[in-house]
Amino acid sequence: MTNAAKERLVTKIHDKWYDLTDFEKVHPGGPVSLGLAAGRDATVMFESHHPFTHRRVLDAILEKYELNESLSRDLKTLEEQHGIVEHQFNWESDFGDALKFHVREYFQAEAKRRDVSLAAAIKAPPERWYELTLIGAICAVCFISFIRGDWISLLTFPVSAWVLGVNTFHDAAHFALHTNWRINSMVPYIVPYFSSPFTWYHQHNIGHHSYPNVGHRDPDLVHYFWLKREHKSVEWQPTHKVQHWPWYIVAWWMLALEFGLATMNDFWMVFYKVYNDSVPMKTVSRTRFLLHVAGRVLTMVVIHLWPFLVLETRTRSIVFAIVPYLVFSGLFMMNTQINHLTPECAHETNKDWYKHQVITAQDFGVNSRFCFLLSGGLNYQIVHHLFPTVNHHHLVKLQPIVARLCEKHGVPYKHVAGYVAAIKAHHAHTISMSYNDKKKQSESFLISGTVWLLGGQVEVDVEAQKPGPAKAAGSS
Ligand SMILES: [Zn+2]
Repeated sequence: MTNAAKERLVTKIHDKWYDLTDFEKVHPGGPVSLGLAAGRDATVMFESHHPFTHRRVLDAILEKYELNESLSRDLKTLEEQHGIVEHQFNWESDFGDALKFHVREYFQAEAKRRDVSLAAAIKAPPERWYELTLIGAICAVCFISFIRGDWISLLTFPVSAWVLGVNTFHDAAHFALHTNWRINSMVPYIVPYFSSPFTWYHQHNIGHHSYPNVGHRDPDLVHYFWLKREHKSVEWQPTHKVQHWPWYIVAWWMLALEFGLATMNDFWMVFYKVYNDSVPMKTVSRTRFLLHVAGRVLTMVVIHLWPFLVLETRTRSIVFAIVPYLVFSGLFMMNTQINHLTPECAHETNKDWYKHQVITAQDFGVNSRFCFLLSGGLNYQIVHHLFPTVNHHHLVKLQPIVARLCEKHGVPYKHVAGYVAAIKAHHAHTISMSYNDKKKQSESFLISGTVWLLGGQVEVDVEAQKPGPAKAAGSS
């Protein structure tokens, strides 16, 4: 990209380049959502963020801002500049058209019933706001208990903070909470345990949601890949041999959020300007960049320092500085790893984007209010991936519509009974990924780990030691 183009908001959609700089001020979704498209091929985000807008309206806007051949000829996407291969989907889809038609029909009826616009009908309705207010009040009570140093709050505060966070942060970051973009942009900052919203947009919106389970494009497949293998596109290492052991999984889940998503992933992204070798970082001003770094450092210092300033004993201070984040991280991982990383979903793919979204995801505990609240609606993962800008409140009603259309179009819709079945399926996946595809692996973890640290590899055929193929937990 040229320097001139860097200063303007240019994006590529369906193989054409557009300069949306002047559109930024009037874009209904606000500058934050439009900014995700800056400099990259935003075809997937464009399609998935406007499923209910008439095509002629979208085409008329794009036509106005299209760059002519002489200006766009030499432009390269951020991905191309970083040597990341663009992944293309087909958008001509009877299945996709049927999904959009029937879901739009549902929301048109909702908009009429509530006497609101279609755009307002897909966001959080008043009853959802009451629910979030109640969750917020419970979290505030737990927070007071936490600040006072009550032992019980080591559990109650991170659990309530998780429930509040997952029911607000996730929807807001998908612009699915409110029609006012300022509210959507502000809310993710109220739950600092999660991640920087800036980093989250890269990892979740731009990377994972656009290309779920696509090797080298979905950053969730390569989190610390030398310690845990989630996809066949990742080369096997001796360390993967123990990744399914209970102690390894517990340690992984407890430490993943703080050492991974909230701090080190952030650090690597701003240092290398690319997230997990999959999502190039959006170009921002120096001031914005420094604010981001300062915000992250301040958040982490406050989270871990306050107990030493407020609580009376050293032991209590240390426990309160460490334990809540471990619990929060465990909840985060328990609710996020089970939705795509299963034997039935991990390596599925389809050129049709709508089918791809369905077959790479798994629902769990459909119709369970407990699963819905504890996961913030992540248990309706398939519908969420098809319609990310729809508030999770509506997914309960949309799920039967989508499941029926999947059946009609012969698209497998995967769901399991609840948390236990979903975790079992994820564990089966973790086991299957712990084996070396080349059917050769090092003799023992101690030996192979040492060899790996030294940069070599012991080639010992241990096929005889390998148990039968891992079984997936049964889908219901
Ligand atoms: Zn999401």
